[in-house]
Amino acid sequence: MRSEQIRSTFLDYFRGLDHLELPPGPLVPDERDLLFTNAGMVQFKPCFVGASRPPHPRLSTAQPCVRTVDIDKIGVTDRHATTFEMLGNFAFADYFKREAMAYALRLLTEGYGLERDRLWFTVLRGDEESVDLWRGLGVPAERIQPLGPDDNFWSMGVPGPSGPTSEIFYDRGPSIGRDGGPAVDSERFVELWNLVFMQYERGRSDDEILGDLPGRHIDTGLGRDRLAMVLQGVGNVHETDAVLPTLRAVREATGRDDEPSAHRLVADHVRTAVRLIATGVRPGNEGRGYVVRRLLRRAVRRLVLLGVDEPVLGAVADSVTEVPGGVAREVVEREERAFRRTLRAGNRLLDTELARGPLRGETVFKLHDTYGFPVDLTVEIARESGVAVDTDGFERLMREHRERSRAATR
Ligand code: ATP
Ligand code: MG
Ligand code: MG
Ligand code: MG
Repeated sequence: MRSEQIRSTFLDYFRGLDHLELPPGPLVPDERDLLFTNAGMVQFKPCFVGASRPPHPRLSTAQPCVRTVDIDKIGVTDRHATTFEMLGNFAFADYFKREAMAYALRLLTEGYGLERDRLWFTVLRGDEESVDLWRGLGVPAERIQPLGPDDNFWSMGVPGPSGPTSEIFYDRGPSIGRDGGPAVDSERFVELWNLVFMQYERGRSDDEILGDLPGRHIDTGLGRDRLAMVLQGVGNVHETDAVLPTLRAVREATGRDDEPSAHRLVADHVRTAVRLIATGVRPGNEGRGYVVRRLLRRAVRRLVLLGVDEPVLGAVADSVTEVPGGVAREVVEREERAFRRTLRAGNRLLDTELARGPLRGETVFKLHDTYGFPVDLTVEIARESGVAVDTDGFERLMREHRERSRAATR
């Protein structure tokens, strides 16, 4: 089943259950504290906190997301992409746990044809109600695992709605890892769907529950790309139909078929950058713009390590489906050319210093100040080479430098 059909199957199914389908919220949210929309519920926060009313008590969306927190997992795990689509059904003071669970289980098994015996379920330790409800839906007790609040308690990290969650995992089989359920080995057991049961008013911490919410709400997120990986029988999210053309373009650019993890990283980062550029974000030195810049720089550096010495990202950007291309190619190419110049200039010095041992603050500062070498990149490269970095020394030099130039301006 192709990704588009996975999406339409989801939306059709919930339309049949009286959900109103809404367009996705903006990838760059209005909220200043949030870099990018990272879940389907983001656009509904005002509804969940009671500040505004939803247009219908039952809603559904297909939400493009960007998660910068997963950046170190890209190419390392099979299941993480920096950008992915989250399919969600939401209920506002309408149905609750029982229906949300039954709807999800039926869609996965009857709608998508997943084998029941491969599904595992986690619940919040102590949430016997959820255990009973899954049991009532025919799930054997041994495939329901209780986990702690780090995994199965949800809140926004601020006073407001909170509650237990239950997650549905798919067992990819013994060839991937040992048995024991999601509690043990997350590469074998892939989390597909998170069901959030908002029912408590939270105080200043997750331990401080003030009471029940006036209305109980449902928020769910099903990872389209993870489901595609399972349904298409491929080994990771980067080989599903939505991403594969980009992965192929990267392979073409390197002319290599080894180093699969590096190829996935490049495809993932360029795809994310293109998506962000298409929504109007431009590479820059801070905030959202810096995320785009950093993604592209990480991609370029990986390409250089793979032996690609000429600019290639324009062609890779063109391979990205799902978003209107246009301006992205040009922006990506310009950024690549500029960064290749920077890399050429700084690499010699960096290599020499890395061979000598721990990087002194002076070296990091010189790379930054003279060669325009971004500090996070220096730290990353040093980490890869197993060399320590005196970041405190660097910070001190930066402060002195700022003070000097401020004095000079005065
Ligand atoms: P994981 O524990 O695997 O990192 P998560 O618990 O962080 O996932 P949620 O925040 O519960 O994920 O998001 C809901 C769903 O969105 C997940 O069940 C998964 O299917 C999907 N999802 C989350 N992060 C990613 C990602 N980086 N790439 C692809 N899909 C994702
Ligand atoms: Mg995660
Ligand atoms: Mg999880
Ligand atoms: Mg989760």
